[in-house]
Amino acid sequence: MYYEMIGFAQDQGNTVLSDVPAFAPGETALFLDFDGVLVELAETPDGIDVPPKLVPLLNALVDATDGAMALVTGRAISSLRGHLPGFRGVVVGSHGGEIDRGAGIETTVNVDTETVGRLVELVTAFAKCDAAYIAEPKPTGVVLHFRRNPDLRGSAYHFLETILHDIAGFEIHHSKMAFEIRPEGVSKDAAVRRLMGEAPFDGRRPVYIGDDITDEPALAYCRSVEGVAIKVGEGHTEGNFRMDGVADVRAYLAWSLSEPATM
Ligand SMILES: [Mg+2]
Repeated sequence: MYYEMIGFAQDQGNTVLSDVPAFAPGETALFLDFDGVLVELAETPDGIDVPPKLVPLLNALVDATDGAMALVTGRAISSLRGHLPGFRGVVVGSHGGEIDRGAGIETTVNVDTETVGRLVELVTAFAKCDAAYIAEPKPTGVVLHFRRNPDLRGSAYHFLETILHDIAGFEIHHSKMAFEIRPEGVSKDAAVRRLMGEAPFDGRRPVYIGDDITDEPALAYCRSVEGVAIKVGEGHTEGNFRMDGVADVRAYLAWSLSEPATM
């Protein structure tokens, strides 16, 4: 009945299942990516549409999991919190470069802020070469978006590669229609592993929902510890379940809050 209601994607590989079980919030450590999972992707980072019911749904999940719920985003935490006023849960931002457990934002790596500032300056100047580029500064790095013209992908990559040639300690990550410069060793899965070792997440079964390449190592980790790893959308995944899109995710979260768990 539920599966008919929210219409899951066809399986795309023999290891991905479509019948996602409801989770028991009291025994779950819940990790949710934001863009493409809780809100539809937009042309620009600030162009997203956040429905009024989203923050109440997320706060209900924070309560039901006794606080063992984190949003795990590539965005800077300040950007995410700006789009979700009143959200009371943990936020991992900048792909794991920052974390806010509710007591303020901490960076998880020692970054040379002067170097980050220089990288932001260079990428921002480069983005002015073409109106389709968008530079998105982060506290620990910078993103170069080319969603508005995917043909710019090659030049975007070459530029970032060139500027990193003489700057140590940073690396380029592939994202959806964007490349990101991040400090080495920063990742969403490292942040998830860290939280899984801390209260109130420890001892619980992880459920992770993500749509991006940067979510794949976290999906692989959650699967490896017998968790539920849900890939949203098409493409290869390390996850063990798949959903079509944002509407499915929201329906699934609301359903798990109201139904007896099936996992
Ligand atoms: Mg995403």
